[in-house]
Amino acid sequence: MSADGLRKVREQIESGQFALTPDAQRAVLARTGDLIDAVEAAGQALSSVPLQTLPEAAAKIVYLFYLSGHGWRRLLAASAESASAGAAIHAALQASISLLMPQLAHALATRTTSLVKRGNAAWSLTCAVCDGDAVTFTRTRTGPQAPEQLVTTSLSPVTEFRSITGPRMSDLIALLEAGDVPTLVRHMMETQPAGCDAWCATCSRVYCRAHTAIEAQWSGSWHEATYATCPLGHERVIE
Ligand SMILES: [Zn+2]
Ligand SMILES: [Zn+2]
Repeated sequence: MSADGLRKVREQIESGQFALTPDAQRAVLARTGDLIDAVEAAGQALSSVPLQTLPEAAAKIVYLFYLSGHGWRRLLAASAESASAGAAIHAALQASISLLMPQLAHALATRTTSLVKRGNAAWSLTCAVCDGDAVTFTRTRTGPQAPEQLVTTSLSPVTEFRSITGPRMSDLIALLEAGDVPTLVRHMMETQPAGCDAWCATCSRVYCRAHTAIEAQWSGSWHEATYATCPLGHERVIE
């Protein structure tokens, strides 16, 4: 089973092998249990034929990336004991993920992102996993006299919408009408400060919020960075 390594590490933690404080032991065991559950759920969803459960499997995999992400690693680095428990968990988790990844990559191999027109004034780039809207573009005005703007969505939990006006908007609308995804995304990367943050350049696909592990890193009230990881484990900084 793909979670066997993690189960073994859990037993080691329970037996006190890493000499964690009671609070740290409780927290590490809880997170290890969550990781085991997510690995098992992903494995189960990936084993179904034909793969109707791909959205569920991909969501579980990105949840694994989120659970084991920057915040968790930072927490584990707080003491030598928890760092060594963290290293054991990380190694077992990598082994689990490397068992699941070929199945997920195979299931995703034929999936692509489309550009779909929604009514007269909106478009969306679809998620390669679930075909849901990953990025939407909406022509709108804030009032009758206000200039037209194109509002795009973002994966960022800090800046969820961005508006584009003037010649940049006209250029983008022309590309949306033309319907070529790679050209549109390349243009956004070159002209928009946030690029096209739902795009994984390694996969050449867009993934929605449910199928991307999004982790904002805070230091107190200061936002340091937001990381996004696609279902195949490609991480990028999106702001
Ligand atoms: Zn999706
Ligand atoms: Zn990717």
